[in-house]
Amino acid sequence: APYLELRGLGKSYDGRTRALDNVSLTAAKGEFITFLGPSGSGKTTTLMLVAGFESASEGDILIEGRSIGRVPPHKRGIGVVFQNYALFPHRAAAENVAFPLLMRKMPKAQAMAKAAEMLGLVGLERFGGRYPREMSGGQQQRVALARALVFDPALLLLDEPLGALDKNLREQMQIEIKAVQRRLGVTTIFVTHDQSEAMAMSDRIVVFDGGRIQQVGAPLDIYRYP
Ligand code: ADP
Ligand code: ADP
Repeated sequence: APYLELRGLGKSYDGRTRALDNVSLTAAKGEFITFLGPSGSGKTTTLMLVAGFESASEGDILIEGRSIGRVPPHKRGIGVVFQNYALFPHRAAAENVAFPLLMRKMPKAQAMAKAAEMLGLVGLERFGGRYPREMSGGQQQRVALARALVFDPALLLLDEPLGALDKNLREQMQIEIKAVQRRLGVTTIFVTHDQSEAMAMSDRIVVFDGGRIQQVGAPLDIYRYP
């Protein structure tokens, strides 16, 4: 059975804007899938449905064969990273990473130890005391990644996480994200509108257009038949 299944997902906002139509897809455990497509094509909406931040108008989402349609976001076992990092500016890196654990009442010493472990995973073991404004964009994004991983999620959702970075940093971060993803074996959905980024990172690419899936395939299949 697939690890993740999207089954006929549809979404209308305000009963009017048709954002998604009949989106069906399966993902194997540990797979790195990229959603590629122009702005407004439905990539983020699909991610929001999987994360549980929006509810589907039609269809269902299953993890290991069980519907998560009615499971609240914080109980889905999913880590999420957005383009704008959303770090707390008045908290140091380690506190940012520990924050979700503290919210869930983990004892402080244990939460800080887990935060340090996660910062190590993204190569920031010595930056725990730095505030976001004292770090580069790439470092801030790695803190956001560490924070998304603190609950050891089985599914990681990355919504244009590199969109705010310059080209060299993007390429470096692509490699680092892939390395972390492989090491953890976490099933990942990565959203981008950059074809070369999709080519470099993905096991499979899902091409969106007009709220529908246009094409699904390995990078070379998509590249050969654009
Ligand atoms: P993207 O860069 O992914 O295309 P947008 O700039 O279109 O994102 O959207 C940014 C935010 O605004 C998202 O949270 C999205 O859900 C919301 N949004 C997008 N389009 C609309 C709309 N027509 N009405 C209300 N909110 C929207
Ligand atoms: P993408 O991520 O590919 O840029 P989105 O999923 O953000 O696309 O948007 C798909 C469509 O849904 C767009 O027409 C967008 O304007 C609309 N949309 C997205 N979010 C909202 C929202 N919160 N309210 C109304 N319309 C939205």
